[in-house]
Amino acid sequence: MAYKVAIDPGHGGRDPGAVYEGRQEKDDVLELALAVGQILEDSGVDVAYTRVDDVYNTPFEKATMGNNSGADLFVSFHRNAMPTPGSANGAEVLVYSDEGLPAQVARNVLTELSEAGFADRGVIERKNLVVLRRTQMPAVLLEVGFIDNPEDNQIFDSEFEQIAQGIADGILESVGLESAPAPDTGGTEQQPQPPRPEQEAPEQETLYRVQVGAYRERNNAYDMLNQLLAEGFPAFILYDDNLYRVQVGAFARLENAIRMERSLRQYGYNTYITT
Ligand SMILES: [Zn+2]
Repeated sequence: MAYKVAIDPGHGGRDPGAVYEGRQEKDDVLELALAVGQILEDSGVDVAYTRVDDVYNTPFEKATMGNNSGADLFVSFHRNAMPTPGSANGAEVLVYSDEGLPAQVARNVLTELSEAGFADRGVIERKNLVVLRRTQMPAVLLEVGFIDNPEDNQIFDSEFEQIAQGIADGILESVGLESAPAPDTGGTEQQPQPPRPEQEAPEQETLYRVQVGAYRERNNAYDMLNQLLAEGFPAFILYDDNLYRVQVGAFARLENAIRMERSLRQYGYNTYITT
């Protein structure tokens, strides 16, 4: 199996992220994330996306999508902003814990981004970000310059291809892979062996989902969702067959779904497991 990267373009839909003079973070990061994903795919890496268009998902849903994809690495794309526009510049990478693969990816990507022209603001540990905390695989969150800084936007726009290539190279280098060779160099016959994650991905595709409710009214579904999130459950909504289905987690192993069901029932929820 090829190495797999989950690509998460931050924000989306009703959540524009940072906005500066009409420019929206959600648009910049989608464009960049798709470009990076394409380069990774061309280099033989499997890519899963949390979104490929302008839709909103909660951070919990994004993390869950990443987990469900069985990816080996999760990369979230963002652009930064300050309370006072223009007061900062540069790129930084957020990680849950500055060690292991995330630390390596972060530094390799930052080196590439500084070659593209961004100031290097370094690696920052953040314990409270859902996409870093709830993802089961190594995860990084890239802040690709400040959207409220015209100079950073200038770099973002004029060096776009170098930035995308640099991020892809930084990722590939960190996991022991190489960029796709340029067409005229002929390439190599043998693909390097990607390192395997410690836990093998399960063979079967079936996922056990714990459902707490299904609603025709969107607002009722969101009330239930918010209650679950407030209690710390990784809940999300799936819209399907004219019903808003509120679910908590999606598990490759039935026993884990049953464990989740048990703790939900302790909180008084009626649940059932669906596949
Ligand atoms: Zn953001």
